[in-house]
Amino acid sequence: MSDTHKYVYSFGDGKAEGKADMKALLGGKGANLAEMSVIGIPVPPGFTITTEVCAAYYENGKKLSEAVRPQVEAAIAQVEKQLGLRLGDPADPLLVSVRSGAALSMPGMMNTILNLGLSDAATEGLAKKTGNVRFAYDGYRRLIDMFGSVVMNVEHEHFEHELAALKKQRGVQLDTELSGDDLKLLVEKYKAVYKKGTGSDFPQDPKDQLWAAIMAVFNSWEGKKAIEYRRIEKITGLKGTAVNVQAMVFGNMGNDSGTGVAFTRDPNTGEDVFYGDYLINAQGEDVVAGIRTPEPISRLDTDMPKVYEQLMGIRQKLESHYKEMQDIEFTVQGGTLYMLQTRTGKRTGSSAVRIAVEMAQKGLIDEKTAIQRVNPDSLNHLLLPGLDPKANAKPVAQGIAASPGAASGKVILSAEAVVKHAEEHPGESIMLVRKETSPEDVAGMHLAKGILTATGGKASHAAVVARGWGKPCVVGCDAMVIDEKAGHIIIAGHTVKVGEYLTINGTTGDVMIGQVPTVDAQMGPDFATLMGWADKVRVLKVRTNADSPKDALKAREFGAEGIGLCRTEHMFFEGQRIVDMRKMILADDEAGRQAALSALEPYQREDFVGLFKAMDGLPVTIRLLDPPLHEFLPHDDAGQNEVAKQLGVPVEKVKLRVTQLHESNPMLGLRGCRLAIKFPEIADMQVRAIIEAAIEVKKAGMSVLPEIMIPLVGTVEELSFLKKRAIIVADACMAKAGAKVEYLIGTMIEVPRAALTADQIAEEAEFFSFGTNDLTQMTFGFSRDDITSFMSSYIDGKILKVDPFQTLDATGVGQLVEMGTRKGREARKAKTGEHLKVGICGEHGGDPESVAFCHKVGMDYVSCSPFRVPIARLAAAQAALADGKTISRDR
Ligand code: PEP
Ligand code: MG
Repeated sequence: MSDTHKYVYSFGDGKAEGKADMKALLGGKGANLAEMSVIGIPVPPGFTITTEVCAAYYENGKKLSEAVRPQVEAAIAQVEKQLGLRLGDPADPLLVSVRSGAALSMPGMMNTILNLGLSDAATEGLAKKTGNVRFAYDGYRRLIDMFGSVVMNVEHEHFEHELAALKKQRGVQLDTELSGDDLKLLVEKYKAVYKKGTGSDFPQDPKDQLWAAIMAVFNSWEGKKAIEYRRIEKITGLKGTAVNVQAMVFGNMGNDSGTGVAFTRDPNTGEDVFYGDYLINAQGEDVVAGIRTPEPISRLDTDMPKVYEQLMGIRQKLESHYKEMQDIEFTVQGGTLYMLQTRTGKRTGSSAVRIAVEMAQKGLIDEKTAIQRVNPDSLNHLLLPGLDPKANAKPVAQGIAASPGAASGKVILSAEAVVKHAEEHPGESIMLVRKETSPEDVAGMHLAKGILTATGGKASHAAVVARGWGKPCVVGCDAMVIDEKAGHIIIAGHTVKVGEYLTINGTTGDVMIGQVPTVDAQMGPDFATLMGWADKVRVLKVRTNADSPKDALKAREFGAEGIGLCRTEHMFFEGQRIVDMRKMILADDEAGRQAALSALEPYQREDFVGLFKAMDGLPVTIRLLDPPLHEFLPHDDAGQNEVAKQLGVPVEKVKLRVTQLHESNPMLGLRGCRLAIKFPEIADMQVRAIIEAAIEVKKAGMSVLPEIMIPLVGTVEELSFLKKRAIIVADACMAKAGAKVEYLIGTMIEVPRAALTADQIAEEAEFFSFGTNDLTQMTFGFSRDDITSFMSSYIDGKILKVDPFQTLDATGVGQLVEMGTRKGREARKAKTGEHLKVGICGEHGGDPESVAFCHKVGMDYVSCSPFRVPIARLAAAQAALADGKTISRDR
């Protein structure tokens, strides 16, 4: 490090060497203290040692560069000059705080030392000057405690023990009931604890204290807590922490002093009101520590009207300067107001929307900025029920947050039992708890309020289905053991019996025992306004994955512009349908299959009529049957007996078919287009139902845009075989009805070979839809249903940054998506002169980061579950704004 480089930036007295946009160098706290100083907000003077010094400290094997020292000395001298005080002056000492402050806020994760500068002599001087022995010695004992525990690693408990013992001896409850003499005595006891813990006396030279405190702050950057916090919050790429050294001001100097924290708007609702707490005659930590109950900030108007007025002015000034809601800390010392911190305030999803919209409407920011201000994922807060924050529920375990929203319900351990319970106790909330779910569980899943599974990841069956319905779901909760026989689960050591309540938060993955109150979704007019602004700028269209008219209508309410994926397998589970489906699977020959399919066909047609009507005039992509057939048969004895009874066949026949259908790797087995190639009559029935439904709806005067989608294609031959057959069936339907409907035949791109040969496939396909669940599964070779066993080790070990089933792996899978899109479009254009429509219907279609990727590769649309449609609309708008490629649409 060079002697001429600047390592220390001063602030205070209406001037500063730094400013707000220097957060990377000065940390958030330091940069904003500088900014406040410059814009004339009263800030106690001080200085910031840069994050570069922290980085160099670690590079040099935890040694502070000598070049920093003179700059710190000079900055201290400047503070001393400004205040007319001197560090260590026995008559009138300058006291300072030493605080951390990284570029991104890491609340409470790093060290702070207050009242630095007190020594035996300085404390005596402070007592004399203020005429307040209690105040001076209370400050000194706090310093010895903080310095001892934070800088010298003496157990804080040892100090606490002395304090508790003295209070007991004096027969008092509160610290504030101890007298000045008591505190003098306590200081002696604390010094003894310090000496015992460190082997030396408490340092009397304030410069020694200062340097040790600075190093302690740097050390806390690599402390266990801070490392863990950065890992959880995915904070990477920072240089280190800055250190802020600032003159102390005291809120505990009497009834004309106080301290508080506030938000410039209500962070829960977004309402434009001043929101916060304060305490008279107290230090900052007392507000946070909950020792005394703070007063609402509005009371300050009565207690100190002048200060309140000044604070309201600062609130206005900060908002119009930062053009953002601020979270502030202040202290009043002897009637004089000082600001100690300002930063962008954290807020709930609904308040984020309201604040952004109101600020734009008032002209403080423009519409584009408003769009960029709201984290798309935070919209879940408006769209789905959440836990009541007042309930303050403690989770006992955590799984993977698979489908957002909160739900409480009575624990039931099988889907059949859910169906039974729902019939017997209508209206009761049920929590379906399973190791994993499969398609045969959908009826029970649908009736449950929430779903919790022990295994599975973000693209597992439970996750995908629950998300489609907007039902809260937590998967991969490996702290849970299910004992169906015993009728209970054991979760992180707690036993919960069937019928007892469990609560899940699908937004965070938390699992709580008992019934935690929830609060309803809260969309309002501001939400509609923001969505309208987002729609004006986004380029990507947003469709939905939906299999029922109800979900389709919900998605339209949320702004869906079509159905991007109807998983037809979800249509075969209710009532008579599953019986006919099983008849089809158990049939001995084609004739038997045909008979069962004929029984299913009217249901299918009705389903499609419902979907087409719900989506009136918008495109509807219907995927032909995809999952392996064994998923439609039960695997347990009881279930198999019941199927045998229902179908009037011997149970051995059911068992034999289950055995025949067994595969070692069903995800790579007889499924997708392979089913249709082996049993073309299944696809024929579905195509007929689609075309006939389309004709019916068209005749009723609506417009229909069916898109028939063939899954799991890996070669163009698979597609051409099935396409040819589909055209013959469709032509026959139209000839029979004497009517014509337009339709497209396209394919999913979910097998890597399909992406690699996209040029060949596009010669046949009229559209592509990337099935990135399977594409991720097959590209990584990770089973989407079995990733819980290793994904956390991958994330913890930094082998993967995020679960690739949640956020599209742009580096690997993304190459296939980009190449598939490009090759497909080029080939289609060359052959037909047409633009190949490309979309995505894997779960990534509702993930903001993945949506940005889809925008970048130039897809036409993303498709996601209904409740993620608004999230995708906002994410698409943000992606368009980020790269400047927006369009202005009229809607
Ligand atoms: C996919 O694989 O991405 C997809 C949408 O299909 P499914 O999840 O039904 O396999
Ligand atoms: Mg798939």
